[in-house]
Amino acid sequence: MSRTDVIILGGGLVGLALAAALDSSGLSAAIVDPVDPDSWKASSFDGRTSAVSSSSRRMFDAIGLAPFLIEPGCPIRSIRVADGLAPGGLAFEPPQGDDEPLGWMHENRHLRQALLARAEAAKLITLHYKTNALSVDRADHDVTVRLDNGDTLTAPLLVSAEGRNAATREAAGIRVAHWQYDHAAIVSTLAHERPHDGVAWEIFYPGGPFALLPMTDAGGSPRSAIVWSVTRDDARGFLSLSDEDFAAEAEAAMGNFLGHVRLLTPRSSYPLGFHHAARITDTRLALVGDSAHAIHPIAGQGLNLGFRDAAALAQVLVEGARLGLDLGDRQLLDRYERWRGLDTMMVAMATDGLSRLFGIPGKLPSAVRRFGLAVTGKIGPLRDRLAAEARGTTGDLPLLLQGLPI
Ligand SMILES: Cc1cc2nc3c(=O)[nH]c(=O)nc-3n(C[C@H](O)[C@H](O)[C@H](O)COP(=O)(O)OP(=O)(O)OC[C@H]3O[C@@H](n4cnc5c(N)ncnc54)[C@H](O)[C@@H]3O)c2cc1C
Repeated sequence: MSRTDVIILGGGLVGLALAAALDSSGLSAAIVDPVDPDSWKASSFDGRTSAVSSSSRRMFDAIGLAPFLIEPGCPIRSIRVADGLAPGGLAFEPPQGDDEPLGWMHENRHLRQALLARAEAAKLITLHYKTNALSVDRADHDVTVRLDNGDTLTAPLLVSAEGRNAATREAAGIRVAHWQYDHAAIVSTLAHERPHDGVAWEIFYPGGPFALLPMTDAGGSPRSAIVWSVTRDDARGFLSLSDEDFAAEAEAAMGNFLGHVRLLTPRSSYPLGFHHAARITDTRLALVGDSAHAIHPIAGQGLNLGFRDAAALAQVLVEGARLGLDLGDRQLLDRYERWRGLDTMMVAMATDGLSRLFGIPGKLPSAVRRFGLAVTGKIGPLRDRLAAEARGTTGDLPLLLQGLPI
C-alpha cells in the first residue's frame, strides 16, 4: 500500500503537468494510466501540434519543465484572422515594446516526452503506466485505488485527468453537456518555400476554418502545421487524396502566400466535439483537462485550459496543505470549482460561437464578418484584449501561469 497527497488517473499532457506542478511545491502524486508511454515515440501516436499560450509557457518555467524540452518550440509573433482569402482581416500582436510572443508551437510528442522526463526525474511523482485501476473507492475519509498489478494506492484526493471519455466522471454521475460538430479536423505538417515569420493564420471558410501554425524550420525548410476543419464527408475525400493533390488543395486554401507546399507528415483526422461537465468536483474528486471540458480547436485553447486547471488546482492544494487542511476538504474543492468553472465556460462558449458564426455561408454574413474584423482591428483596446486572451493572460491567473512559484 503506498500513500501520496494525490492520485491522478490519466498521465496525458494535463495529468503530467499537474503532477509536476504539485511536485515543484512539495506535494506528492501517483499517476495511473493504462497506456504504454513507449507508444508515444511513434510519430503515428499523436501527429498534432499545440499552440501553447505564453502564460502556459511561463508555467513550464515555474514547474521546471523547460530544461526537459528537446526543442525550444516556435514563437508565435502574430495571429492573423481572415474571412476567406479576401483582404481586410485582423492581426493580433503583442503591444509595442513587449517582446514576449503570443504563444509557442510545440509538437505534442515533444511535450509528452518532456513532461514524462520531468516526472521520471521527480522525487515526489510515482508513475504507474501500463496499469489499470481495478477499483476506485472514494470514501468519506480517504480514496483507495486498487491496481491490476496488485498494488493499492491511497490519498486524500483523486484527480481525473482521463480525457474526453473519463470513466471516473461517469461513475461519479456528473452530467455532461455534449454535442458533435459535423466536422473533423485534418492535421498535418507542411514544408513551404517562403518563411512564415512567426505568423499563425486562422482562415475561415464556410466549410470550416483552416489554421496554419508556424513551426521551427526542419532540414533548412520553413514548416507549418495545419489544422483544417472540414465536414466529415469532405474529410473522407481529403484523406483519400494523394499527398501531392492534398498539398495542392492546402496551397490553394492558403492563397499560395507561402509559395509551393509539400506534405511532411501523414494526415490524421480527429472528429470534433464539445463537452462540458456540469461540475468539476465530487466527494474527494476533481476533474482537470479534457475530463472536464473539450472545445472546438478553432482557437487552440483546449490544452491551455487544461494547464490552467492544473495550475489552479495545484495552487488550491498547496495553499490548503500549508493551512494543514485535508486535501480532499470540501472547502478546497469548492474554491477550485469556483475558480475554474466560469473561465472554462466562457472560453467554451466563445469558441463554439466563433465556429458557428464563421460557418454561416453566403455573401451577407461574410460581409458582416469582414466588417466586424475591420472594426475590431481599429479599436486598439479591444484588439489588445483579444491578444491578451490568446496569450492566456486575462482573468484571475494562478501563480504558476504568471511564472511565479506557489
Ligand atoms: C485537432 C486538434 C487540435 C488541437 N490543437 C490544440 C492547440 O493548438 N492548443 C491547445 O491548447 N489545445 C489543442 N487541442 C486540444 C488538446 O489536444 C486537448 O485539450 C489535450 O490533449 C487534453 O489533454 P488531457 O491530458 O486532458 O487528455 P488526453 O490527452 O486525452 O489524456 C488522457 C489520458 O488519460 C488516460 N486514461 C483514459 N482513461 C483512463 C482511466 N480510466 N484511468 C487512467 N487513465 C486513463 C489516457 O490513456 C490518456 O493518456 C487540440 C485538439 C484537437 C482534436
